[in-house]
Amino acid sequence: MSAASYNSVMVDLDALRDNFRAVSQRVSPATRVMAVVKADAYGHGLAAAAGAFTRAGAQCFGVAEAEEGVCLREAGIQGEIVLLLGLDPAATSATVAHDLSPVVFDRAGLAELSRQALGRGKVVAVHLKLDVGMGRFGLPPAEAGRLLEAIRALPGLRLGGIMAHFPLADDPEAERECREHWRRFSAAASAWRDGWAEAGRIRLHMANSAALFRFPWAHGDLVRPGISLYGYPPADPAPFLPPALRPAMSLRSRILQVKELPAGCGISYGHRFVTSRPTRLAVLPLGYADGYPRGVSGRAQVLIGGRRVPLCGTICMNACMADVSAISGVAAGAEVIFMGRQGDEFIGAAEIAAWHETISYEILCRFGAMNKRLYSSPDGEPEPA
Ligand SMILES: *Cc1c(COP(=O)(O)O)cnc(C)c1O
Repeated sequence: MSAASYNSVMVDLDALRDNFRAVSQRVSPATRVMAVVKADAYGHGLAAAAGAFTRAGAQCFGVAEAEEGVCLREAGIQGEIVLLLGLDPAATSATVAHDLSPVVFDRAGLAELSRQALGRGKVVAVHLKLDVGMGRFGLPPAEAGRLLEAIRALPGLRLGGIMAHFPLADDPEAERECREHWRRFSAAASAWRDGWAEAGRIRLHMANSAALFRFPWAHGDLVRPGISLYGYPPADPAPFLPPALRPAMSLRSRILQVKELPAGCGISYGHRFVTSRPTRLAVLPLGYADGYPRGVSGRAQVLIGGRRVPLCGTICMNACMADVSAISGVAAGAEVIFMGRQGDEFIGAAEIAAWHETISYEILCRFGAMNKRLYSSPDGEPEPA
């Protein structure tokens, strides 16, 4: 372990476990739940998060690429691992060797996948991706028939699922469009499945977190929650009444220096903030190099001594400043919460995202990727190395 850092991201593994249980309770027992753990589990740590979801019963995981799937296998994760970005021909051998299930939307690489599966005596499950309105990868239903025939004809491959993705599920105004997207998907997918010998093993899936909570009619055979497992609704304000989900990530630091300044002092680069009265300033050792967006300068707050205090001046690469005039007895070394709970106060990823005109997903990815992560587990589960 390297030297301690001032800053750390804390991940509560029990919150992840409980969130998976809470989300699973929203679907019928016949519907499977894929824990989406792409992007290093939205910044929470791929293997650690997948381990927590496994303890809650997860048997299916969604990652972007084969490399992440290999990581999960090396961490001992079993069950199905779906490669959501598709089959990378350069990763065919890893895909087969580690029993990963690629999404497919064209024929490129399928013959080679089949050859390598046969060579290893394996059957690789693939999930056909349709585009029914997302305008991203996937095949229009009218063009998917030929790809299905190709999959059927290739030995060593089986159709594990047919899937699509909702572009508007978090928009409270767009339920009509969502119903139309589901109709296009389910009409095509059900018809194909019925013509298949192994129909019972082909799962239809389309629902992300927003659709899972808002549209029970769109659960299909498998749902694919991501953001809700990490404790956040997909949009702010939430387009549904969230169940008992708990944010699992917090970002904390310690005060570097406290000083008393007179009125009229310029603070930080550009002097965009000038003290209007005698001010007690706390210098904090965290900045945009730690993922805290420089663009929230002038809007952001942090928690010190159980209270909200404003940041003042431009956020620097490794530092920023808080006005702690309202708090007596603050000293260097005191805990600062940039995201998370302190006393009765809470600042979540959704609030920081709103200051930055982005979404909580991006804030979680940034903080998780750019800070040392520590794992806490009040229930005493073992901490991963
Ligand atoms: C990321 C992703 C999800 C999860 O979406 P959330 O909004 O985080 O629940 C589901 N399906 C696919 C294909 C994805 O890429």
